[in-house]
Amino acid sequence: MENQKTKKTRILSGMRATGKLHLGNYFGAAKGMVALQSRKDYETFYMVADLHALTTPFSPKTLSQYRRNVMVDYLAIGLDPQRSTIFFQSMVPEHIELAYYLSTLVSVARMQHLPTFKEKVKQYPENVTLALLNYPVLMAADILIYQADLVPVGIDQEPHLEVSREIVRKLNQIYQLHLPQPRRFKTSGDYVPSLNGIGKMSKSVPGSFIALDDSLAVINQKIAKVPTDSGRGQIQLTQVDKKAGFQVTKRYFDARTNQESVGVGALMKLVELFMGEAKRAAFEHQYQAETLSYNQLKSQLAQAIFAEIEPIQRKKQSLLTQPNYLDEVIAHGAEKARAQAQITLKLVKKAFGLLN
Ligand code: AMP
Repeated sequence: MENQKTKKTRILSGMRATGKLHLGNYFGAAKGMVALQSRKDYETFYMVADLHALTTPFSPKTLSQYRRNVMVDYLAIGLDPQRSTIFFQSMVPEHIELAYYLSTLVSVARMQHLPTFKEKVKQYPENVTLALLNYPVLMAADILIYQADLVPVGIDQEPHLEVSREIVRKLNQIYQLHLPQPRRFKTSGDYVPSLNGIGKMSKSVPGSFIALDDSLAVINQKIAKVPTDSGRGQIQLTQVDKKAGFQVTKRYFDARTNQESVGVGALMKLVELFMGEAKRAAFEHQYQAETLSYNQLKSQLAQAIFAEIEPIQRKKQSLLTQPNYLDEVIAHGAEKARAQAQITLKLVKKAFGLLN
């Protein structure tokens, strides 16, 4: 077993290869991933979660494009193969093997009651597979196989992290192991709302997201469609689930109709993320003072978003002209990840009596 005293803090994160990365992925996970890789006392493992992409309907052709696209996006946002181990999940088959051992510790009922499972069942009633049910167990294996301490992911992943911790506790208790219980590394944008204000920004919901690839014209069009109100309103603060890390949300009500304006909430959150809290406060002041112009807010916001993602797009264009470099990064990442994954797998197999 590794010497726990000399072990650096380990980080694991990943994005499913189910479509283009969007601003939710960027703020909820990617920014944290980039920040953590520059710390000397941290060791970072970042996967393109292509196996998790099989838990919802997929086509082999697009899956193959999406996973390469996520890899290019990783490099374009600043993940550095010299500092981080960057790899395709499916190229490290140890994840699946460990997930099988871990599945012996989890009841079917526990998985069926997870809100994330129920949501996906609603979204894809024709695709309620064992792979979908097993998603959190595979995620626990992804984390545990690198003995990761911290996981930079959005708040939507908190129920899955709780499952990972439960599994580690059982594993440690039953088999006398000393594996770390993973915690979420929180970022300021750990919940980026959908553009229509209902639910979160999501790859699988058309019209809900701005992709990292979008041009200024497309961003302008998408922002223009965000529903607003008369621009004269009230703001209410709400306490929500402190345990999950969700402190306070703000809800906006149109003074004329007294209806909640969820689109305005989404715009204000994006203003905060891309233009800063002071700018959000200034727009809120105008909202309450009845002087807010949504045209102005929307065009300033679209420009601020584009200014942030344009350098990523330029880097991406340049990476796309270097297919050999990409292949090297992919092969090297898998090799490094496997070396580490095999250490934990051996430990668990031994504990289970499968290795002398
Ligand atoms: P996924 O695309 O579902 O694999 O998510 C990849 C990462 O992005 C995970 O860490 C998610 O928690 C995070 N993420 C996805 N959507 C959002 C969102 N709307 N707000 C914040 N984080 C998100």
